[in-house]
Amino acid sequence: MDYPIIEPKLPGLSKSRYCAGLQCHKLLYTKVHDRDKIPEPDAFTQYLFDQGTAAGELATKFFPGGTEIPAFPIDESIAKTQAALDKGVEHIFEAAFNFQNIHVKVDVLRNLGENKFDIIEVKSSTRVKDQHLDDLAIQKYVLENNDLEINSTILMHMNPDYRHPDGELFILSDESEKVEKRMADVPQNLESMQEMLGQDEPPETEIGPNCKKPYECALMKQCWQHIPEMSVFNIPNLRNAKWDYYHQNIIKLEDLPEDFIGTPGQMPFINSFRTGKPAIDYYGLQKFMSEIQEPIYFMDFETMQLAAPKYNGTKPWQQHTIQWSVHILENNELKHHEFIHTENSDPREPFIQSLLEVLGDSGSIIVYSAPFEGGRLKEIAEAFPQYKEKIDNIRSRLWDQLVVFRKYYCDSKFKGSNSIKNVLPVLVPDLSYGDLEVQEGGTAMVEYTRMIGLPDGEEKEQIKNNLLKYCNLDTLAMVKIHEFLTD
Ligand code: SF4
Repeated sequence: MDYPIIEPKLPGLSKSRYCAGLQCHKLLYTKVHDRDKIPEPDAFTQYLFDQGTAAGELATKFFPGGTEIPAFPIDESIAKTQAALDKGVEHIFEAAFNFQNIHVKVDVLRNLGENKFDIIEVKSSTRVKDQHLDDLAIQKYVLENNDLEINSTILMHMNPDYRHPDGELFILSDESEKVEKRMADVPQNLESMQEMLGQDEPPETEIGPNCKKPYECALMKQCWQHIPEMSVFNIPNLRNAKWDYYHQNIIKLEDLPEDFIGTPGQMPFINSFRTGKPAIDYYGLQKFMSEIQEPIYFMDFETMQLAAPKYNGTKPWQQHTIQWSVHILENNELKHHEFIHTENSDPREPFIQSLLEVLGDSGSIIVYSAPFEGGRLKEIAEAFPQYKEKIDNIRSRLWDQLVVFRKYYCDSKFKGSNSIKNVLPVLVPDLSYGDLEVQEGGTAMVEYTRMIGLPDGEEKEQIKNNLLKYCNLDTLAMVKIHEFLTD
């Protein structure tokens, strides 16, 4: 296929810059010209990147005898790629190419002979996503302009049906047809990006749905400064209509027309905002809460997600239960129990054994989002059938506190989110995560991974204590919310 030639203009582009430019020109401009304004990824995002890198390294093992091209310096990477091509190497990892200052590295370049090649892009996701096709398209564009004939463009992603250690961990999905459809747009996209990058000022780009798609943009804090804390963006499930309001300059909730008719799920939020009071379905709430039976257990799990499974029967990105906290309320007396697995080994069995010891046979088990805790319990029951009967008993006793805020109690001060982190400060302002070293689940996962890699000692103990305090507060928060609701 012939593509129009674009005059080389500095600065250069890469796969990731091209994809950033498709999301938003302003984002690309900032990445290229004002890199300092892009905040570093938070610990959890970095953790996900690291998991993806680990999965990528694993993928190279599926092509034994492949040649790895060093990443830097660029000129050397390109020269070494050419040398590997000249030698007829079958699989080249990180093969580097440049065309008109657009630089790409191919995760795996498969040499089929007679100048024909497959481009294989490795992703740690468990399916092909739309943005992956653009990633493949820019690689194909650059390689074809280096006179390589591209046979197929392939996305190698993790197999969601894989169960360690049986089966294929990766699936190779031929996306050639879909990628080909995008090829005609590549030259125009590049031209507009390079022209935009040549300007002295960043483009005036309006916020839009692309700020969160395909990825949450790192510049949201800056670009969304004009959106007040309470706005149409806080209305639950408003979907695309929020953008219609935004474009009509209806941004603050006060600006919503009086006759705004939302869905039954939205009106309690609107009513709460307008009256300044929570909107409560007393009858429904009372009925729902009457299901709770003593003794009451308040239970929370922490998990660690691994892209590449390492324990028997686990799948890619499975959430491994590593820690629990349980508060028990009986006869007005509150007791606390907890567990954390501190070894670098399969945590599931010690986790469930210790948990079963404290949960008894009867009484409600209050969780915040039953599908999460229930789902983890189901996975453990499948992996360790000897505990299935007892786990089924636990699952049948789960009572979901989150449902209270989804169905019966709405306060606009939750800002449209029913997360316990939003609910707690409104209902129980004295109790806060603010003083803790670990304040949310993502950081807990990162810290946990760090802890199990450490030898026994002060640092490991410190992290362990921080994690225990965090999980303890999660269940204590549920206790306090329960007391609030009961009052
Ligand atoms: S926050 Fe939105 S408008 Fe701002 S750079 Fe990112 S995508 Fe573009």
